Amino acid sequence: MLILNEEKYAEDIYVGIDMGIKSIMTKIRYITRYLVHSKQLNDKDAYVDTIKWLKLYQDNFDESCYSKIVSDAINKAHKYPFYVIDNIQIAQSELDSISSLGDLRAEKVLFVLLCMAKQQRMSNGFTNGLVKYSITEVCKFARVSVPADDREYILHKILKSGLIDIPKKNDTKCLIVNFIDVNNVTLELDETDCQELAYVYLNWKNGGKGYTKCKRCNKWMKQSKTKPKKYCEDCAKVVQTDQKRLWAEKSRKNLTQQND
Ligand SMILES: [Zn+2]
Repeated sequence: MLILNEEKYAEDIYVGIDMGIKSIMTKIRYITRYLVHSKQLNDKDAYVDTIKWLKLYQDNFDESCYSKIVSDAINKAHKYPFYVIDNIQIAQSELDSISSLGDLRAEKVLFVLLCMAKQQRMSNGFTNGLVKYSITEVCKFARVSVPADDREYILHKILKSGLIDIPKKNDTKCLIVNFIDVNNVTLELDETDCQELAYVYLNWKNGGKGYTKCKRCNKWMKQSKTKPKKYCEDCAKVVQTDQKRLWAEKSRKNLTQQND
């Protein structure tokens, strides 16, 4: 996912929500920044709280191995306040450029790269469409699951179109998105949109058909043609359990009334 509200993201990690982060270093960086900037703890208290958090959420945590790492992270945290981005705006001309590729996989990958470039302009201060990327991450966001060689082929195809370029200072981790436009905004992506960029693009491409948002948690999902869904899989289970409980209560009430 692309993060728009970094403070909220860090807060979710702090309260123990699993954000799918594997690296303990990344977690430590978010936790220490949260304690320093949001909770405004002094360095000593931030250290104590970080260790407490790690003991609670990190399996087999050994403080002696991490005391210096945590102290260093707290020192650095002061330099990195959180960014908060209201939304990511996508222009009609940008969507038209992407659509002109005429290859759905490539289009989804390019849409993700465009969104990442816009996010990084605000989060990292990148200019001129520069985007730092990993092809694995981009394909994951784009919901393109193909072998590694095919991923490179898709990228090569987009490069050939001229819509993206390799920076002059040959940095293999960066690309330049060439078709950024700020006029005629068609889509405004919020945090939930940024979790499902592929569906947002396909929904636009299909004229608003085939995809919908869960009525309970607002997550994007595929819409079924035969049996339109209101809720995502997770929420459907919760709603079903609630309904069963309500029915049980109702029939119990009816039964006691009959017996009275
Ligand atoms: Zn849901």
